[in-house]
Amino acid sequence: MAPVTPVDVHPVPPGTQAGTVAGVQPGTGSPARLVQNAAAHLFNARNSAGYTAEVLRGVKTVAARVSGCTRPFTGATPGELKRRVDGVDLGVPLGDTAAALEELEDVYLRDAVYFHDAKYAAHLNCPVVIPALVAEAVLSAVNSSMDTWDQSAGATMIERRLISWAAGRLGLGDSADGVFTSGGSQSNFQALLLARNQTVEWLKLDPEHDGLRLPSLLEKLRIFTSADSHFSIRKSAAMLGLGYDAVVSVRCGQDHRMDPEALAAELARARNDGLIPMAVVATAGTTDFGAIDPLDELAAAARGHGAWFHVDAAYGGGLMVSGRHRHLLDGVHRADSVTVDFHKTFFQPVSSSALLVRDAATLRHVTFHADYLNPAAAVDRPNQVDKSIQTTRRFDALKLWLTLRIMGADALGALFDEAIDLASGVGAVLASDPDFELAAPPQLSTLVFRYRPLRPDGRRLSEDAADRLNQDIRSAVFASGEAVVAGTTVAGRHYLKFTLLNAEAGVEDIQSIIELLRTTGASLLAAAEVSV
Ligand SMILES: *Cc1c(COP(=O)(O)O)cnc(C)c1O
Repeated sequence: MAPVTPVDVHPVPPGTQAGTVAGVQPGTGSPARLVQNAAAHLFNARNSAGYTAEVLRGVKTVAARVSGCTRPFTGATPGELKRRVDGVDLGVPLGDTAAALEELEDVYLRDAVYFHDAKYAAHLNCPVVIPALVAEAVLSAVNSSMDTWDQSAGATMIERRLISWAAGRLGLGDSADGVFTSGGSQSNFQALLLARNQTVEWLKLDPEHDGLRLPSLLEKLRIFTSADSHFSIRKSAAMLGLGYDAVVSVRCGQDHRMDPEALAAELARARNDGLIPMAVVATAGTTDFGAIDPLDELAAAARGHGAWFHVDAAYGGGLMVSGRHRHLLDGVHRADSVTVDFHKTFFQPVSSSALLVRDAATLRHVTFHADYLNPAAAVDRPNQVDKSIQTTRRFDALKLWLTLRIMGADALGALFDEAIDLASGVGAVLASDPDFELAAPPQLSTLVFRYRPLRPDGRRLSEDAADRLNQDIRSAVFASGEAVVAGTTVAGRHYLKFTLLNAEAGVEDIQSIIELLRTTGASLLAAAEVSV
């Protein structure tokens, strides 16, 4: 590379244009000039002052946007945003961070969906804690990659320490291990992959060498999970070559928890049919109802049939740090594997999740020795790639690390406890409101309900009309940007859903969403009357 003179290149004093060298437009000039200009954007010792200034611009832009935020969304339509994004000419760089951030306001920031707003109550997205945002800045700048020791060093030790911390909280025992993943879906997938290969191994086959040349055996494997479990269980079964039909949907009770007797009956029936129970998957916090399956009883049933016992605690995992609700996870210590999403109930930015396993040795099912990366001869090196289905991988663990070091686990638990209390308060409000029907009492921090008022003639709105109306209410409210709520179906009927994870929201905030839903519903009904 051509030598770079200090005149040409940054550190960028605040207020100057990054990447713009006096009189030269970015992307123009001689190749050497182009390299010089480009190199000014590399994060290194020479450019560290510029880095600080530029990142600060980005951080300040977001902070200003969030301070001015009065509702979770603007209601911008896909067409509008597509037009604005498509209007950007990617062939002509702005060469200037301030200008690009200004443009970003237009194509993204102003119309983003803001999870920190008290009237965002839709999906399992949390407001994020500042210590984790500090970590995001650090981890992406250092850019460690978790696959091998020689790309991560201390980052590997921090991830390992957090895995053993979480496994300890769950009571998984001295042989436990695990790995950070991109999310609950990936954690569930890896758990079922381990379960499948472990089952095949118990049956005296070698899954790594026989690969998927085991069709007659694979055809017989069954995964038992509740009808309310997350779709990633079914999707994983398909990706593992077992097919959707390998998943046996076990009945839930009124409380949306898996019925252990129904599980026992399904396991016995499968055995009778010559099938092989590969795994029982319990959910600790279902996505809709927050229901926690009876873990102890399901663990016993799984053991009785030699099946792997996986607990999907993507949502309920935060209970491990709860001061008041930890007991809801009782029995989780019996799991062979557990999914925990830190980006849900630990208030971490996306993405941050982990798969924990009772027996570290089971992670060998995802170990592959590549000569260039983690040769078998170097097994004494702590290479996390040996435990992961990913290769290059973010140091997401740092977010939880700084969160625990700055705030502590009890503070996280208090935030989740607060959301659980909020849901219970809002549940009482909805249960006593004659215009609304609550599908079930809240168990964690969700509420499933619908608007179904009495009509002027004193009769309830019909089921079909309520189905249409509640979907229309949700769309209208989303389009207004005033609030964001989710929708789901219960026994084929359409409901609305609040997922509450914001400790700063009070019952009165959620009550004002309820009023918005009511007035929106009433005016949609009135308009329909007029048009009939
Ligand atoms: C959210 C969720 C998942 C999926 O997790 P992602 O992080 O979105 O991949 C799995 N299971 C349950 C119960 C969940 O709530």
